[in-house]
Amino acid sequence: MREVPVLGGGPAGAAAALGLLRRGVAAAVYERRPRWTGRVCGGFLSPEAVGRLGWLGVLEKIKERGAVPVPRVRVHSAWGFDRTLALPVPGLAFPRKELEDVLLEEVVRRGGKVLLGAAAPDEETPKVLAAGRFGGAAPPKTRRGWYGWNAVFEGTGRPAGEMSLHFGPAVYVGALAFADGRMNVSGLLYKDGTAPWETVFQKTMEDIPSLRSLLGRAHRASDWIGVGPLPHGTDIAPRPGLFPVGDAAAVGDPFLGEGIGRALAAGPMLHAAWATPDPWAAYHADWRRTFHRRMVAGAWIRRLLRRPALLRAALPFLARPAVLPLFPHLRNP
Ligand SMILES: Cc1cc2nc3c(=O)[nH]c(=O)nc-3n(C[C@H](O)[C@H](O)[C@H](O)COP(=O)(O)OP(=O)(O)OC[C@H]3O[C@@H](n4cnc5c(N)ncnc54)[C@H](O)[C@@H]3O)c2cc1C
Repeated sequence: MREVPVLGGGPAGAAAALGLLRRGVAAAVYERRPRWTGRVCGGFLSPEAVGRLGWLGVLEKIKERGAVPVPRVRVHSAWGFDRTLALPVPGLAFPRKELEDVLLEEVVRRGGKVLLGAAAPDEETPKVLAAGRFGGAAPPKTRRGWYGWNAVFEGTGRPAGEMSLHFGPAVYVGALAFADGRMNVSGLLYKDGTAPWETVFQKTMEDIPSLRSLLGRAHRASDWIGVGPLPHGTDIAPRPGLFPVGDAAAVGDPFLGEGIGRALAAGPMLHAAWATPDPWAAYHADWRRTFHRRMVAGAWIRRLLRRPALLRAALPFLARPAVLPLFPHLRNP
């Protein structure tokens, strides 16, 4: 078979290429960006993501390069809620750039191609579409919606692997400490799209006291990056000749911290689909079976997040040890 072009060099594109290579299919990753420019992401590798990294053959490398266990999460709210929950299975804290470096190095090591700053050939099909949230297109023009933002902080003094979530009115923030002492801070906010990220952040700190005590004395060590409005979805869009993977298949809720695991699933899923007479039908069915229900759950959680009174009442029931194992990506290594 001819080489399969993979559009996008994020976790989904690298994993897709590794899955195809493992099936004996030549694959080339075309990444539009010539160099790393940052990602809006919390850097949390769920137990499911950790399991996928094992399948892809890079888990040991990631541990060697400083991934640290995340055994629990502390949940705070603007209304004084504070509870620490043990994860059913520990996840990992690992910076996104290093994760993507390890994955793309592995593609090359297994005989695949990685072309940075390059466009994929137009005529080749099938193609894997791993082009992220907007599928390679421009973000939607609507201004109102959910926006994600991200920066790295130094000087928090928190131990590596410490993770906390901070909920406020139509906003939440995740903070995760890496092995080098830096803390990734990323949030999701329902807004109109006009205010600068620093203003958004300062207002969020005012609204959520736990965030103030975490970051009040720390300093920001990176620029803000923001993205949105996010085109959330619950189902994979069939596109002739294209295998959409990761966020290009559908954008889930970051609250769940399962996006990287879903992106990495492209490897085993394409590997299995390519062994069938109708790879597209097999892939589509596998994707729906694995992800559709959790994407629908994410849509309900977003509705809840936009209703502060409801969120305030629901948090003590949702943030309980018995609830976490209901999320498959937190349960399944
Ligand atoms: C605020 C926030 C926090 C999050 N935190 C977490 C978390 O802690 N844990 C977690 O598991 N998930 C998290 N996520 C979700 C996670 O970041 C995404 O699900 C994940 O990045 C999807 O990976 P991907 O490879 O599909 O897309 P991306 O990582 O977006 O990669 C897509 C790549 O395709 C390239 N590209 C675009 N168009 C083209 C083109 N035409 N040709 C070639 N290349 C192209 C882009 O440059 C990019 O490099 C978070 C999301 C948000 C918004």
